[in-house]
Formats: sequence, structure tokens, C-alpha cells
Amino acid sequence: MTPHTVVAIDGPAASGKSSVARALARRLGYVYVNSGAMYRAVTWAVLQQQIDPRHTTAVLELLGIIKIKCGLHDGESTIEINGQNPTPFLCDESVNQNVSTIASIEPVRRTLVTLQRRYADDHDLVMEGRDIGSVVFPETPYKFYIDASAEVRARRRAAQGQNDEITARDRRDSSRKASPLVIAEDAHVIDSSNLTIDGVVGEIIGRLKLKGLQIPD
Ligand code: C5P
Repeated sequence: MTPHTVVAIDGPAASGKSSVARALARRLGYVYVNSGAMYRAVTWAVLQQQIDPRHTTAVLELLGIIKIKCGLHDGESTIEINGQNPTPFLCDESVNQNVSTIASIEPVRRTLVTLQRRYADDHDLVMEGRDIGSVVFPETPYKFYIDASAEVRARRRAAQGQNDEITARDRRDSSRKASPLVIAEDAHVIDSSNLTIDGVVGEIIGRLKLKGLQIPD
């Protein structure tokens, strides 16, 4: 059981959860952790080594030798692999296409979940992902699932100038065996299709207050 507060934000691709989680973390004065960036960083490392992401044995060999360093900068999670910062490449089309395959490999998940949990040793967190409320921090009472219609999500991704087949990615994320995208039983579901970021953050804050969490003015 972590002594720190964790707000878990899960949901499908382009549901708005990153913008919401970041804004919420600022509002609360908590650290913002983007767990998807970790799966993306490992995918980037695999592609850098020209390993086929479907070749699980080769992926795991690489996982055994790379040094993944998770840190913090300005209240947000950072990641380095073998001393390199992969951030500029995390939304490359090749990463978008392969990240769900890498994220379906159980030992990859185990390694990254351990690193994700470590953030709560020293900080209050808003962490976003797919399995934060269901697997990473199942004991937190503060769980949210942000959704939006398929049309709105596709539009949001296109507006970001990204080539990202979110429907295929969501299908893979929801149907995989290891920690699939699910709505945790006790999560509060918010449809963000017709809401602004501030609107969603406001709804979350209201809910957190109802649950007795102290919110800074
Ligand atoms: O959140 P984002 O869309 O950047 O995540 C990229 C991918 O990482 C997801 O499509 C999913 O395959 C994987 N992921 C995951 N579990 C998480 C966060 C992300 O499997 N907690």
C-alpha cells in the first residue's frame, strides 16, 4: 500500500486523458506520470535495434540489457534508455504502429509496472494509461476512465497531425491477455466528447472532493 495519493486516469487512445491528467496534476500539485510514454520508449528502443516487435524472444533479450531510467522534470515523468532521451520520437508513426504489440508482452509490462509504482514511493501522482486503476494501483480510491466517441477521438488525433490508427490500437489493447484496457469496477467514467479539458478536470475535482480528498485552493 503506497503512503502517497494516486489518481488513476485510464482510457482509450486520444480520449483526452493526457491533457486532462497533466492539467489535473498541476491543479493538485501532484507529479504527472505518462505510462504510455514508457511503452512507447521501449518500442522505440526495439525499432532502433531493428528487432521485429513480434519476435518476443528478441524483444526480451533487449529488455534484459537496456538501461531504463525513469525520472522527473518540472513535475512530469521523464524516461531515458541507455542514456538517450527518446521523447522526440515517441509519437513517430512506426512507434504508433508497434507499441500495442510490445505492450502485450507480459515481462515488458512487469518491468514497466515496477517502475511506474516506484513513482508513488516519494510523490503524490496523477498517472495515466490503460491499466492504472485495474493493475498498477488497484487499491487507490481515485479512479477515472475517460472516453470519447470514436469520431471525436479520430478528429483529435488528426488535429495533432498524427498518423495513428487508433481503432486498431484500441482493439489490440482491449483484447490482449496481459492487463487489457478495461474499465475498473470502481472507476468513475467520463465521456469527454462534448467537454473541454477544464470541464473534465472540473468533474474530476468535484468527485475527488466528494471522496474527501483535500484539494488546494
Ligand atoms: O497512452 P498512449 O496512447 O501513449 O499509449 C501507447 C500505448 O501504450 C497504448 O496503445 C498501449 O498499447 C500501451 N499502454 C499500455 N498500458 C498503459 C499505457 C499504455 O499498454 N498503462
